[in-house]
Amino acid sequence: MPLKSINPFTGEEINSYDIFSKQEMNDAIDDVAKNQKSWELKSVKERFKLIAAVKNHLLENKERFATLMTAEMGKLKSESIAEIEKCALLCDYYMEVSEEMLQPEEIKTDAKYSGIDYDPLGNILGVMPWNFPFWQVFRFAIPTLIAGNGVLLKHASNVAGCAVALEEIFNVTKEGVFATLLISAKQVEEVLANDKVNGVSLTGSEAAGRSVAALAGKYLKPSLLELGGNSAFIVLNDCDIDRAVDDFIVGRYLNSGQSCVSAKRLMIQEDIHDTFLKKLKAKVQEFSTGDPNWKNTKLAPMARKDLAEELEAQVKESIKKGAKLYYGNERSGAMYKYTILNDVAPGMPAFDEELFGPVTAAIKVKDLDEAIALTNNSKFGLGVSIYTSSTDAVRARASEFNEGAVFINSIVKSDPRIPFGGVKNSGYGRELAKNGLMAFVNQKTIYLKD
Ligand code: NAP
Repeated sequence: MPLKSINPFTGEEINSYDIFSKQEMNDAIDDVAKNQKSWELKSVKERFKLIAAVKNHLLENKERFATLMTAEMGKLKSESIAEIEKCALLCDYYMEVSEEMLQPEEIKTDAKYSGIDYDPLGNILGVMPWNFPFWQVFRFAIPTLIAGNGVLLKHASNVAGCAVALEEIFNVTKEGVFATLLISAKQVEEVLANDKVNGVSLTGSEAAGRSVAALAGKYLKPSLLELGGNSAFIVLNDCDIDRAVDDFIVGRYLNSGQSCVSAKRLMIQEDIHDTFLKKLKAKVQEFSTGDPNWKNTKLAPMARKDLAEELEAQVKESIKKGAKLYYGNERSGAMYKYTILNDVAPGMPAFDEELFGPVTAAIKVKDLDEAIALTNNSKFGLGVSIYTSSTDAVRARASEFNEGAVFINSIVKSDPRIPFGGVKNSGYGRELAKNGLMAFVNQKTIYLKD
């Protein structure tokens, strides 16, 4: 079965792509592995030539790539443009800091010299999701390449056009150290079994994470997992409500709610609970929904009709278990309109699972203690936001959150300069910042006695 790209807004097929045969897949791996041998001998500075060319090609073709992204997975055109610009910033960041970060590090001992060299591991497979089809690939591939590795990409099946475009972008200087493998999830095992492949980074669902981590164990390859989340967004009585409402709308509804760090569980302290929800509803009901290419649209369709149907079933089950529908819950094909559930509690899908779409799960809480207990009552642990004016007091309690990140008076977001990753079923390992460069290196001990 070929990989098919379907426009989720129109329902039309955009393109179809033949899946690689075993031979084609192995040939692509062989080519990258051969080129990686000379790539790793280049200095970090020399490797920047590729990164700079990638960045330029990306920006020169911004309109074309943004149009493709929006057509394949439905996100707002303005969000596609912003995603491309963020990828370019990530290139700039790593070109600024990597040389110093990858320098050998001396450690004083009784030897004449001892320390650590940061060498590449070889060729790393990235198994990537569709929700940020360029950003997810860039944040994995740029530091991995700069560290001297080759990169193999298995992208999500519904964004095969983006996968092909990414191969064009990363091969703009003909280094040949990046290849897109148009393969199915089942073929991932054959890639990991290949001796020329030395590690895997997966961003995706828990199910995919379990499966790829098991394969990484079977073939003894290092792995990094960035999985799902059901992040809490805690609003305390002493916060600036209007600012919190505006931020929440971005945090929950950006990318049609299809982000791992979306503010999925909204915990509002009791004194401001009703006011907050009223303000939230008043704002979202004024926003336009629909065509992702229209400049005034605020909420675009979800990436696939089946995902919208799955979300609708989770909402239905939550209502059956006692959640109250406060606003919305209208679906047509992949278009799911703004939805707010209230009185959400443990035992409902809206609390226990990840709602990967534009649905708010509101919960009234007595105080910060209750909010911390409810935040931690989750199989996930990606990030939490707390809105308050008692910033020092809340910062002092950060260690009580079993999360990969604590953001105060900000939505949880990724930034090239700070590490990103989760705990519990949200995965392990960290991307971005220095951690991203270190994800797939051999931290080689050097010891020179005299
Ligand atoms: P997905 O269905 O798990 O797919 C992600 C990638 O894994 C795709 O390339 C998919 O290929 C592949 N895959 C799926 N099952 C696999 C298996 N058994 N073996 C090998 N590969 C497999 O996830 P998605 O629907 O694309 O993305 C949404 C999920 O990603 C959400 O849970 C979201 O929270 C998470 N996510 C996490 C982060 C983070 O940084 N923590 C960021 C973004 C998204 P096919 O498309 O061919 O099935």
